[in-house]
Amino acid sequence: MHEHHIINPATEELIATVPAATARDVDAAVRRATAAQRGWAALAPGDRARHLRRFAAAVDAHLEELAQLEVREAGHPIAGARWEAGNVRDLLDYAAGGVERLTGSQIPVGGGLDVTFHEPLGVVAVIAPWNFPMPIAAWGFAPALAAGNAVLLKPAETTPLTALRLAELALESGLPEGLLQTLPGAGPVAGAALVEHPGVAKIVFTGSTAVGRQIMAKCAGDVKRVTLELGGKSPNIVFADADIEQAAAAAPGSFLDNTGQDCCARSRILVQRGVYDRFMELLEPAVAAFTVGDPADPATQMGPLISAAHRERVRSYVPESAPAAIRGEAPAGKGFWYPATVLEGSPGDRAATEEVFGPVAVVIPFEDEADAVRIANATEYGLSGSLWTRDVSRALRVSRAVAAGNLSVNSHSSVRYWTPFGGFRRSGLGRELGPDALAAFTETKNVFIAVEPLEAR
Ligand code: NAD
Repeated sequence: MHEHHIINPATEELIATVPAATARDVDAAVRRATAAQRGWAALAPGDRARHLRRFAAAVDAHLEELAQLEVREAGHPIAGARWEAGNVRDLLDYAAGGVERLTGSQIPVGGGLDVTFHEPLGVVAVIAPWNFPMPIAAWGFAPALAAGNAVLLKPAETTPLTALRLAELALESGLPEGLLQTLPGAGPVAGAALVEHPGVAKIVFTGSTAVGRQIMAKCAGDVKRVTLELGGKSPNIVFADADIEQAAAAAPGSFLDNTGQDCCARSRILVQRGVYDRFMELLEPAVAAFTVGDPADPATQMGPLISAAHRERVRSYVPESAPAAIRGEAPAGKGFWYPATVLEGSPGDRAATEEVFGPVAVVIPFEDEADAVRIANATEYGLSGSLWTRDVSRALRVSRAVAAGNLSVNSHSSVRYWTPFGGFRRSGLGRELGPDALAAFTETKNVFIAVEPLEAR
């Protein structure tokens, strides 16, 4: 039997051994989910909403336990891990509120009824990454359940523990058996089996662009529904008219939070030439002040990377020949630590074009607004971005010109569960979160009923 060894990335200790699902396990899970989904979809909206609110309450009651699990399996600082567990609770509450508002429509036609329904898809698979294991799983399962579907959740190989606990809490809170199942397993085995299974109606995938592309190609065969949340290489554009102190103070968090393992990381910092030197002077102490260390300490802002292999990948983006412009501290000894690193470079550098997924940013000077937009858009990605300016006209002009799904002005905010989230270009397909999240888990059906003979149909 295959197993996954779950390692605490801050200590390199083995914390759990988890059996890996096979294609046969996936098949059995699809059968259980299919059976559970029928009854679930038949429930009155208020009853489905009540179930989800009870699940949210169970998550709330176990918030600290879930957060501590995330600290141990993913190395996330506890403050962020608490936010992540709270995000799962909030999403379930928000999705519960959507159940009653998932209404169809009826158009009056003389002598007939013209009715539009939004029907659940059936069984949905959520394939999640390791960087934010809990919230990203919930972005998929909360609205999918609310819309009347059953969900099979496949967490990443390195981080299955919170996903397993969430499925247990769902059951303990009274959600019907089989409705939300967690299937830990290898991507090419359990993940691929879900993608290929004819009983799975939709794949919600968050992960690398390379795997997302393969999944989309496989789904094409059956015209299987797919939502993709993929990689990013987001710009942080600092104009000369911005509050430079504020922009420099906020920049470290925008590429160091979650040790840079964030699809929205602002890892390309574009700074207008006239304020470039001043910005770099301010950035250095701000990076040095970013607290790195024990993830269990509430004061810690940055933990380790997920694995030794990932650390090697991150390291490969930092040239040994030239010194980094800014280098932070990292603990010595056990753990997959890597220091905050700021490179000075140009738009074509490998570290400025590929997603590093680590605490590495490249600072690039630009001349004027058109130059900034040109560099910002010189990427295959289009997920997020920030711009810093005091000019509201420029803020709107540049926001409209940058090809990305989520932009923020004088802020690095990307994800708010009440707002649609997703990427342009190779950063993804479809949107999650926000008021339309449930609609992505339904098929729209129109039924016309002739009650009396009609002239025209
Ligand atoms: P990954 O693509 O390696 O794996 C993601 C998931 O897919 C895992 O559960 C994995 O087991 C599974 N998988 C791998 N191969 C598969 C296959 N052939 N068939 C089916 N499933 C398969 O990505 P990762 O390294 O876990 O995550 C990091 C990536 O995720 C980054 O590129 C990051 O930008 C992206 N990401 C995007 C968003 C977003 O919302 N856009 C959010 C977080 C992370």
